[in-house]
Amino acid sequence: MDLSYILNHLGEDRASYHGAVAPPLVQSSIFAFPSVADMRAGFRDEYAQHMYTRGNNPTVAMLRRKLAALEGAEDCLVFGSGAAAMAAGVIACVGQGDHVVCVARPYSWTRSLLQDFLPRFGVGASFVDGTDSAAFEAALTPRTRLIVLESPNSMTFEQQDLAAVAALARRHGIRTLCDNSHATPLNQSPIALGIDLVAHSATKYLNGHSDVVAGALCGEAALLRAVFKGPYMTLGAILSPHDAWLLLRGLRTLEIRMQRVAASTREVLAWLERQPRIRRVWSPQAADNPQLGLSERQLRGASGLVTIDLDAADVAAVERFCDGLERFLMTVSWGGYESLAFPVCAVFPPGAPLRPAAGLPLSLVRLSIGLEDPGILIADLEQALTRL
Ligand SMILES: *Cc1c(COP(=O)(O)O)cnc(C)c1O
Repeated sequence: MDLSYILNHLGEDRASYHGAVAPPLVQSSIFAFPSVADMRAGFRDEYAQHMYTRGNNPTVAMLRRKLAALEGAEDCLVFGSGAAAMAAGVIACVGQGDHVVCVARPYSWTRSLLQDFLPRFGVGASFVDGTDSAAFEAALTPRTRLIVLESPNSMTFEQQDLAAVAALARRHGIRTLCDNSHATPLNQSPIALGIDLVAHSATKYLNGHSDVVAGALCGEAALLRAVFKGPYMTLGAILSPHDAWLLLRGLRTLEIRMQRVAASTREVLAWLERQPRIRRVWSPQAADNPQLGLSERQLRGASGLVTIDLDAADVAAVERFCDGLERFLMTVSWGGYESLAFPVCAVFPPGAPLRPAAGLPLSLVRLSIGLEDPGILIADLEQALTRL
């Protein structure tokens, strides 16, 4: 199935809604049955029937089909956030007394789920350096049920060799879940490499317009049925039909947005790598990335995240740089049409040291390259650097 077909047509039965080109927004919580027999059939299989929108909704179903196809998965469930999708995927795979192995620097709320939340229910976790495939095997216990991956991560872009980790997990009968938000399904296909579950913050590139918070979980239908009966229906962190409709609209331009982002990021990255006031540039495609070979093998293209380490004398200088940006908006998140800057120092109280003994330096600023003319972005970075 080609990409344009998925984005423009898959799951859209236009003849059944007057030939409307845009999909209908079925803003209904419930669906009525013509007979008791039909309603009984609905109860037998809520996964496949339209009865109640916490379970199934036609607008949401269209989105599920497209996202499943993009990931090369049998099915997909969508959620009210990426955090909900990750939590549902993990919770469906573990029970009391079980253990999870996770990469060392996952998304902050993935860490919180595994380190703070699930231990209350008797589920333990170990965090390992995912750039070393052998580290996963060394961390396994007899109760390990799941390996959680995020490749590349969204701040310093460490990657895992997905095929190698999937193969070792299969040897031990352990499931794998990979957060693929950064690469998008266009640039990386974890399921084709043997990963069981793929999660997305659809808030980022999949929607791409900074107006929806959403998540997705893709995998084999049998496994997703278990997710549906478990955390999906029980915790009820669903995506509203309206947000699904907005996401369908965002997806129309996914391919062209990612092409523009990749081209602009290449230009901005090359410029950043030449700046003497920048100590280091992080990106899966950065010339000095020790995993550049893995990037070339595992990723089909670049996304728009680049992290810079400013050659700043103190945190005040980092703040002058960030406050001086005129075209980059300063905030959390990434993956929208607009370029963003996220200063690590904003997470720390005033007076924190520039380069703490452990953890990330406060001189880091993550950039998300959007759809603007790259020349305008470079000019903005150039003027802001003079304020350092
Ligand atoms: C944003 C993000 C999430 C969480 O997604 P939300 O939609 O914000 O809940 C998960 N993983 C990664 C890598 C993210 O960047």
